[in-house]
Amino acid sequence: MVNSVIDKFRRRVEQRVLTKEPLSSYTSFRIGGPAECLYTPYGEEDLVCALRAARALKVPTTVLGNGTNVLVSDRGVEGLVVRLTETSLQPLMEKGLVLARAPMPLSSLLDFAMHQNLSGLEYLVSIPGTVGGAVYMNAGSFSQAISTHLAYVEVLDRNLEYVVKKHEDVDFDYRYSEFQESGAIILGAAFDLEAGDGATIRSTAARIRSEKHAKQSWEHPNAGSIFTNPPTTYAGKLIEEAGCKGLQVGQAQVSVKHANFIVNLGGATALDVVRLMDIVVQRVYARFNVRLSPEIRLLGDFS
Ligand SMILES: Cc1cc2nc3c(=O)[nH]c(=O)nc-3n(C[C@H](O)[C@H](O)[C@H](O)COP(=O)(O)OP(=O)(O)OC[C@H]3O[C@@H](n4cnc5c(N)ncnc54)[C@H](O)[C@@H]3O)c2cc1C
Repeated sequence: MVNSVIDKFRRRVEQRVLTKEPLSSYTSFRIGGPAECLYTPYGEEDLVCALRAARALKVPTTVLGNGTNVLVSDRGVEGLVVRLTETSLQPLMEKGLVLARAPMPLSSLLDFAMHQNLSGLEYLVSIPGTVGGAVYMNAGSFSQAISTHLAYVEVLDRNLEYVVKKHEDVDFDYRYSEFQESGAIILGAAFDLEAGDGATIRSTAARIRSEKHAKQSWEHPNAGSIFTNPPTTYAGKLIEEAGCKGLQVGQAQVSVKHANFIVNLGGATALDVVRLMDIVVQRVYARFNVRLSPEIRLLGDFS
């Protein structure tokens, strides 16, 4: 994007736009080159305004949530990166549904549900993303996903029109939502939760949290599970049995604790991670004839 376009964009959105901002600071992997423009809107009106300006100026747009399931290219991301995170947002109850805006941390949604003695989201505990990122990824654990209790999703479609999509009209699958293809931007979601016993809800969440912390790797920066599980088994099991635990390229290492995590030992590049992923895919394929697919989303130019 040439500087004059950046200036025009700045004038149109009249907000703070960071240029050449390293995205490593905004991802849990601590990896990633610069965003040509990084913009954090102060609300949905701002967001729409920025997206319209970007569209009018033909600037490509990428959405980032809390950056906990992405690998950003070392070359960074061209155009506008819109960061949708806002820790001060809180859910609301309306007509028996829990309403959450997309930039809200999942932990705020879960805390709210627990406080109201509402059950159904306990398996989202310790997932460090936003509500929007979780709906986009259909995040979850223990065979449960965020879509299970979803009533509807509010989105901006490709034409930047506001659309409410009922759960039954959205295609969800394991770690898949149709938004991964439609390019819609998730604005908010409503959840239909069940009244439950507060003590049971809290103890279930605590049990899931401690199981996850025992299994997952939290010592080094990472992006959660790198590969999706194949239909009948766990990616981590295949990776471990293919002898990949501890395998290292540069400063990227297959976690010695959880084989489906790659950790950044300090200064890893996106290229290190991609090369390591390739080796893991090849070894698992050679041993089990199963081709692993990435769960993490690659942002930017990986050509
Ligand atoms: C330690 C650790 C543990 C984890 N454990 C789990 C787990 O148990 N289960 C699980 O499912 N995941 C897990 N994850 C992965 C990750 O936290 C989830 O996928 C999370 O939902 C991603 O949310 P995010 O806001 O960080 O999204 P990001 O990583 O920022 O983005 C992910 C994708 O969503 C898109 N996106 C984000 N927000 C929006 C929006 N509002 N509209 C449209 N597109 C959007 C982005 O463009 C990107 O393609 C873990 C990650 C870590 C680091």
